[in-house]
Amino acid sequence: MSAHTPGMVCSHHHLYSSLARGMPGPTSTPNNFTEILQNIWWKLDAALDPDIVYWSAALGAAEALLAGTTAIIDHHESPFSIEGSLDLIADACDFIGVRHILAYGVTDRWSDQGSLVTVLPSDAMTDAAYRGLEENKRYALTGRRSMVGVHAAFTCTDETLENVSELSRELGIGVHIHVAEALEDADAGSRLEKFAHDNWLLVHAVHLDRALPGFIAHNPRSNVNNSVGYARPAQRDSTVVLGTDGIGADMLEEFRLSFVRHREDDRNASPDVSWQWLQNGYLFFPEALNDKVTWSYDYVDDPWKTAFTPGIRCLDVVIDGQPLVHNGVPVHFDLDEVRAKASEQAARLFARMS
Ligand SMILES: [Zn+2]
Repeated sequence: MSAHTPGMVCSHHHLYSSLARGMPGPTSTPNNFTEILQNIWWKLDAALDPDIVYWSAALGAAEALLAGTTAIIDHHESPFSIEGSLDLIADACDFIGVRHILAYGVTDRWSDQGSLVTVLPSDAMTDAAYRGLEENKRYALTGRRSMVGVHAAFTCTDETLENVSELSRELGIGVHIHVAEALEDADAGSRLEKFAHDNWLLVHAVHLDRALPGFIAHNPRSNVNNSVGYARPAQRDSTVVLGTDGIGADMLEEFRLSFVRHREDDRNASPDVSWQWLQNGYLFFPEALNDKVTWSYDYVDDPWKTAFTPGIRCLDVVIDGQPLVHNGVPVHFDLDEVRAKASEQAARLFARMS
């Protein structure tokens, strides 16, 4: 029994979506997954600029830290503000104090004329995809930890996927990619089969029709929210990790959700399985095992108890021996100031979207 754990790891995040809460609603009701992307998320990421990227990341990182999450694997896209965007996110995470592995999501969905297009595998690689690839390379060569990001196979040409795979081999780092999240991307398995490696991070895999090498990032809340179906991660041989897909970074909450989704599918499911998915995040951030989080519940390290105890709060966080949160309050930054700056940028973001 303990009120302590190591730092939590969020293995798939989109810090750029921290300001999405309260954004203008879609002009028409989305009828499928592609329309959710077109009418909501692709409008948001197209409106991002450097100040919005920085403060969105700072707010998301602050909320993560206050939830006991000390390490984040982020997947970023800002198609009209690509160059240098990963440095801004790294700076924001460093200011807050959370560990990070960043990636820029390469995609061919923006034509060279700047309009959204349907991508055919046989199309030529776009300029925007090339620039996204360069951002991944530039950032990786600064020596900070990263992966090569890809939005998803269905918005990329074969030429782009080949270049991504080549860059990841050249840099010796994995690829962070959404895989078969919805039926629209159901042929991801056949397109990625010849490229995927053990160091790839395959996000969602809800409709993946075959085994691919790499980790699977399971995001139960996001999958429910987007109505894409249940991923059944327990039925795969891959090592599974847990992410939030941009909806905060409260990993105990995501653990509980992953357990009840598992139970809904299999009444004999044990929370030990979901707890292991949470622990697998340390394969990416072994140093987070030395971070210390104190919780408001004395049995937080017991999966069977925590699975049935909503509302456990993070009280203290110590990273690298430094106290960063004490009694639920950040020690070295002013949360009200971060919220105020983020709120200014949210107003700018919403104006740019409308
Ligand atoms: Zn995602």
